[in-house]
Amino acid sequence: MDKPVVVISACLNGHFNRYNGGTVSDDNVNVLKPRFELINVCPEVEIGLGIPRKTVSLFKFGDRVEVIQRETGLNVTKELIEYSEKTINNLPEVDGFLLKSKSPSCGVKTAKVFGNLEHTSILGRDDGIFPATVRKLRPHLPLIDEGRLNDRELRWEFLARVYLHFLFRQSSGNIKSLIDFHSRAKYLLMSICQKDLQELGRILAAHHKGKFEETLENYRQTFYRILSRPIRKSNLLNALNHMFGYASPKLTPAERRHFMKLLERYRSGQTDFVTIIEFLRAYGYRFNLQYLLDQYLLTLE
Ligand code: SF4
Repeated sequence: MDKPVVVISACLNGHFNRYNGGTVSDDNVNVLKPRFELINVCPEVEIGLGIPRKTVSLFKFGDRVEVIQRETGLNVTKELIEYSEKTINNLPEVDGFLLKSKSPSCGVKTAKVFGNLEHTSILGRDDGIFPATVRKLRPHLPLIDEGRLNDRELRWEFLARVYLHFLFRQSSGNIKSLIDFHSRAKYLLMSICQKDLQELGRILAAHHKGKFEETLENYRQTFYRILSRPIRKSNLLNALNHMFGYASPKLTPAERRHFMKLLERYRSGQTDFVTIIEFLRAYGYRFNLQYLLDQYLLTLE
């Protein structure tokens, strides 16, 4: 297996299974598809709604979330939840989910939630049933829908998390490869949670010969906890600053000032961090800083 495994909404992968018998061709998704082993899912077809079909919508009545075909009154909430739980529990090892936006079944925080059956009261937007179940059963795995791939930073974060998970799986055969993974993942993990990064370091330092399975299990638990957290700007700035420390002594004062200005611009939302990553990469090549160049924070995208 040489590619990450990603679960995809089948309608984004050339299947003609939308409510109207159509499919979706999205440029961002089409660029990414060759990079993954794909597993197709289509909750609505799998529970027997057929193609074509009347649309279903997400409703919230008090605390209850329901999925109802408004025109027929058919309530498919139970079927969709059961399908999602069964599918997710029976998946092989996967590294992420790429789903269709706005769908009450697949949308990632983009499905319209209605407050009444007449569709006159929109309460907001939320996860469709499938991504909501992913969050419950596999909170450490990255989720995105094709709409968010337009955002350079969100796309980067999704890919970084997918590859991080994939590389962890590939590195979990022996202590040497796990330590190598940890070393290369250091600043990416720091950008999520420094405290848990230190905990991972302690777990590896406490490893005893012949006890690899125990070490791996402890590492996995903390690693998954890190992955279930968002990347925070303040943590990412901290990690970028630490990485800059490798190049800083070799730069002129004007270059150092310029980089600090860039960090400030990122902090205030005037530039994105992908630009800063390009600077760090360039410093890595210029000064032959192999440890920096090997960091997944600079290589995963
Ligand atoms: S959005 Fe989801 S449920 Fe709807 S057609 Fe696509 S895969 Fe099927």
